[in-house]
Amino acid sequence: MAKDTHSLYQHGTLALLVPGLYDGTQTVGELLQHGDTGIGTLSGLDGELIIDQGRVYQVNSAGAVRQVSADEKVPFANVHYADFQAAGSISGTDYAETQAALLQALGSRNLFVAIRLQGTFTAVRTRAITKQQPPYAGLAAMAARQHEFTRDTVSGTVIGYYSPQVYAGAVSPGFHLHFLSAEHDFGGHILDLTVQNAQLALQKFTDFQLHLPTESTAFLTQDFGGDILGDIQKAEN
Ligand SMILES: [Zn+2]
Repeated sequence: MAKDTHSLYQHGTLALLVPGLYDGTQTVGELLQHGDTGIGTLSGLDGELIIDQGRVYQVNSAGAVRQVSADEKVPFANVHYADFQAAGSISGTDYAETQAALLQALGSRNLFVAIRLQGTFTAVRTRAITKQQPPYAGLAAMAARQHEFTRDTVSGTVIGYYSPQVYAGAVSPGFHLHFLSAEHDFGGHILDLTVQNAQLALQKFTDFQLHLPTESTAFLTQDFGGDILGDIQKAEN
C-alpha cells in the first residue's frame, strides 16, 4: 500500500496535557504505523522525542540521547510519512528571524506543515522535561521541572511542525520544533537558536488526523472546561 504523505497524524491532544494526563496511551510501535518522521514525548512527559527515518530518539532531562523501543508509550505525538520538498537555505538568522523566514517559505499561516532544517546552528538552547510520577501536576508546573541545554555550535537537524493558531488546544499552535545533533549527543525541544547555515525542506498537508485515547479512563472522565487555552499559553511562555 502506498504511504499517505498528505496527512499529519497526531495521537492525543495538547489540551489533555494541561490537567496532567501524562500516562502513555499509545505504543511507539503503533505510532510508527502512521509515519516515519515526527516529534512527541514519552509517558510521564519523559523527555523529548524526535523521530527521523523511522527511528525514535529520546532526549531525556539529563540531556542524554537514546533510541526508544517499540513497546514504550506516548501520551502525545505527531508523525507523518516524509516527502519533504526542498525550500532553499537559511543562514545567519536568529530564532525570530528564522521563524519569519519559515513563515515566508510556508506562504500561509493556515496550513499544517512539517519542517526539516538541516545544517549548522549556533547558540542552540533546548529543554527536556523530567519524567513525572503520578499523581501528576498540571502542565503549568512543568516549566520548573525542565532542564535546559546549550551548544555554541552544533550540526544537526530541526524537525517539527507549524500548526495554525485556530486549532490551539487540539494541537500545539504555531511552531513546535525539536532538535537532534548529527552526533546524537544533544537535542530537545527548541527554546532558541541561530541558524548558521541550513537547508530547509517543507511538507504541506491536506489532511490532519486526530487520534484520541479511547481506552484511557482518565481521558474519558476528564472535565476540559475552564480556561484550557489560557493555561496552554501560560505553559508555553
Ligand atoms: Zn516539544
